[in-house]
Amino acid sequence: MVSRKGASEGFVSGPHPSRDSWGFHHAGTNGGRSLPRVIVLGAGMAGLVAARILHDTGFPVQVLEARNRIGGRIWTVQDLGVPVDLGASWIHGLRGNPLVAWCQHSHIPIRRFPRGGVHFFHRGKAASGFRLGIKGMKGLARCALRYGHLRWRASLEGPRGNPRPRLMDLFDPLIRDDTLPELDRSLLLWLKTLQEAINGAPAHKVSISELVLVTPWTGNAVPTPGYGPLIQEMAAGLPIHLNCAVRKVVFQDGVVIVETAAGNFRADVAVVTFPLGVLRSGKVCFSPELPGCKRRALARIGYGADAVLNKVAIRLHAPPCPRKMERLGWLPGAKPKPVAFALWTHMASVVDAPVLVGYISGLAAARLDAAGGEEAAFKKAHAVLQVMFGTRLPHPVAWRSTRWLSDPWAQGSYSYENGLSAPEDRLELARPVAGRLFFAGEALHPEHYGTVHGALLSGEKAAREIHQRFCCRRPQDPLVPWRAQKGTWR
Ligand SMILES: Cc1cc2nc3c(=O)[nH]c(=O)nc-3n(C[C@H](O)[C@H](O)[C@H](O)COP(=O)(O)OP(=O)(O)OC[C@H]3O[C@@H](n4cnc5c(N)ncnc54)[C@H](O)[C@@H]3O)c2cc1C
Repeated sequence: MVSRKGASEGFVSGPHPSRDSWGFHHAGTNGGRSLPRVIVLGAGMAGLVAARILHDTGFPVQVLEARNRIGGRIWTVQDLGVPVDLGASWIHGLRGNPLVAWCQHSHIPIRRFPRGGVHFFHRGKAASGFRLGIKGMKGLARCALRYGHLRWRASLEGPRGNPRPRLMDLFDPLIRDDTLPELDRSLLLWLKTLQEAINGAPAHKVSISELVLVTPWTGNAVPTPGYGPLIQEMAAGLPIHLNCAVRKVVFQDGVVIVETAAGNFRADVAVVTFPLGVLRSGKVCFSPELPGCKRRALARIGYGADAVLNKVAIRLHAPPCPRKMERLGWLPGAKPKPVAFALWTHMASVVDAPVLVGYISGLAAARLDAAGGEEAAFKKAHAVLQVMFGTRLPHPVAWRSTRWLSDPWAQGSYSYENGLSAPEDRLELARPVAGRLFFAGEALHPEHYGTVHGALLSGEKAAREIHQRFCCRRPQDPLVPWRAQKGTWR
């Protein structure tokens, strides 16, 4: 049934000694029905959730993954001597987030991070973001008014009006307005950079509705050992074929045949969880073609092209500042230009080591990702740290950097709202095709797109659809840890 050619070195399988069932019911309690074979394409959060739930319910499941590792856009590395997440790192929004309940259930510690306000550094001197904000109040007040005006105008025009305003329309006229003091314009440029990082896309692409107000009280947390233990726990006991890049998915005559670099796989049902960049690139083709409405929805949703968030993680010889300074910033001046590495987090309070993580998004990120190698990103990030800390910057002992846009299996970092797509597009993408192909992934969640919990919920939804169609018609909840453990974390 399965060609193992080339896949054996990356085959992850075997029973797990202390493993809870995540199924809808225990395998073998489905009234003797024979369940269809399921093939899950992609071992990121969405694929692993769907695979684990279905596998534990009794479906014969296999997972195919192009990389030599699982996790996809979740990628915890240990090269800096401590766990560092090069993809997702935060649990966004603590109330009702399934990841919080899951961490509690599995005793994976989480910590509110980063805490406190931003500390801007220049040549070793720190200035609190709060104090700079008071000095630059005129620019911030003008920005708040302009935001209200643009949203109001867009609401009058309705969804079919002029192109919806973008974050660029909010920030750029003010950054260029030389009647505003230089500090005010520089703060606005930094805020624009922050919004680009949050959305993982340049300001001229992101809808103004995506503006996120970040305060010292914003409810974000991180799993202190990184996301890795969650991925490992979920994948335990699943038959996963690594180094198994899918080229073609044929769904005809009641079977699905998946053609890969490591041979052909046959199943009754497939769950497709590829990132939008991969789906759009034509790297994987479908036969017959996916329906036109799905292809149009795929084209409309914001993802990749020149949109990316990248990180550089640097371990220094010693901490450059007190560990309670968790959010660090660099004011990039008042010229409207692409900005690199103006945002940093200081991880010492999480990993107990002098590790800084720098963020780059917007056009600066797309250019660097396309042009440079990983060292170019490190050099650029390190040069900014030298401006921030001057001669007090301890020397770097290890570093890692990412190029998610050039990564063939991601081709971007996460989907964003560009004002051209509607929530229905994400629902359209999630809709099964021919009762054989099911879909999951962060971009398919109409509300929590761009996040780990969005991917998790969409994987769970695909598993529900398959279970209800092929096993028990009555809707049920799977025994996943985030449903066993209700409650929120403060
Ligand atoms: C830099 C960065 C920072 C982020 N920060 C956060 C954060 O702090 N908090 C948060 O909630 N979210 C964050 N995210 C988003 C989050 O990582 C994603 O939303 C989520 O991990 C996506 O999961 P997924 O399963 O939908 O996709 P993926 O994780 O991309 O899984 C898809 C899988 O399919 C595989 N694949 C692709 N093509 C093929 C092929 N042809 N054949 C076989 N396999 C293939 C891929 O290798 C991958 O493993 C971040 C993302 C990035 C890149």
